[in-house]
Amino acid sequence: MITHMTLLCLCPRLDRIGAMQTKTCYFDNAATTPISRACLKTYEDTALEYMANPSASYEAGRDSHRLLEDSRSRVAKALGVKGGSIFFTSGATESIGIVMSSLLWAKTPGEVLISAIEHEAVSAYVPILKEKGWSVRTIPARGGFVDPETLEGMLTKSTRLVAVMAVNNVLGTIQDIAGLSQVIRRKEAEFGRRIFFFSDCVQALGKTDFTLAGLDVDGASFSGHKIHGPRGVGILYLASGRLQVLSHGGGQEGGIRGGTENLPAIAALATACSQLDDRDDGHILKMNRLVRDTLAGSRIKVLSPETGTTPYILSLATPLPSEVALRMLQDKGYLVSSGSACSNNARGKAESIYRACGFDRYASGAIRISFSRDNTIEEAEGLAKAIREL
Ligand code: PLP
Repeated sequence: MITHMTLLCLCPRLDRIGAMQTKTCYFDNAATTPISRACLKTYEDTALEYMANPSASYEAGRDSHRLLEDSRSRVAKALGVKGGSIFFTSGATESIGIVMSSLLWAKTPGEVLISAIEHEAVSAYVPILKEKGWSVRTIPARGGFVDPETLEGMLTKSTRLVAVMAVNNVLGTIQDIAGLSQVIRRKEAEFGRRIFFFSDCVQALGKTDFTLAGLDVDGASFSGHKIHGPRGVGILYLASGRLQVLSHGGGQEGGIRGGTENLPAIAALATACSQLDDRDDGHILKMNRLVRDTLAGSRIKVLSPETGTTPYILSLATPLPSEVALRMLQDKGYLVSSGSACSNNARGKAESIYRACGFDRYASGAIRISFSRDNTIEEAEGLAKAIREL
């Protein structure tokens, strides 16, 4: 039997499911975005026309290699950096893993500072690093923001790596990455030692005016499926030098990430990157405002700060357990994500982020709405009304 959820999984445009009784409106775009027609076309064309392995020495292989390098240049241009600093991976989780696991090679473990609001792709390394003798300290993020002065006070001569994400995936708070790197570089000069500054920029790309130029980070991660590109493809940016990696193979991607390149997905990712400027932030802001205004004076509290956030992500606290609120909204045809995240494999993680930001009493009833250009004002109106009725 085809269930409601199976239909949702099968249909590429969740908001236009004609076969379903209730029209389903997808508001979970921070989890994943629908792939764009242009990316899908690039993917299909590449898979059909560039079937040769980019490492092959014959002409067809060289064509694939040229497309790979052309995709790299286009991605680098969109991010404001040089092509040589871009490495393709299977997603942001792998990009982050390459950086974090490189620490495991160190003969003498030092100290790592990780913000309190990192995605589990980063925070999962905390117990692993501790087990290997690293000292790991948490940088506080009251209200969802990491304060450069607070970081400055925490940096020591033993600090080897600092990880602060650019935009938080739960609250949408935008971090002052340039300000944080200034502090780090100042301390580096004082200590006479390099500190690797890593920023998980997954939710910044496509949701803010983002460029790596001027941020002065040593490493950054990005994901294809958060910007209307394909799943299973991501980017690792490395400013300079080489990392010691755990995984080895055919030497692809400069030895940083071995394995035959996923050329169709990489080419489609380049298409997604070249379309980043097509955003209509005004439309997203309108939907965000509409939900905020509709909920004003109700028992629903808006948790995402009004300023310093991307309008694409909006966290709310309902008076119900978030799983119940989520189910009720789903029954009305609205897909959002649960703050307490008990139903997925990130169990309790979002809830811990709300707590880290000082929203303890709201954490268990929190839900996250995330918009994309595919949502309409009418859908946002319906969603706001449905939430108010909770
Ligand atoms: N970092 C952040 C902030 C995310 O939101 C996500 C995805 O949810 C990831 C990393 C992991 O990305 P990927 O699915 O490409 O591994």
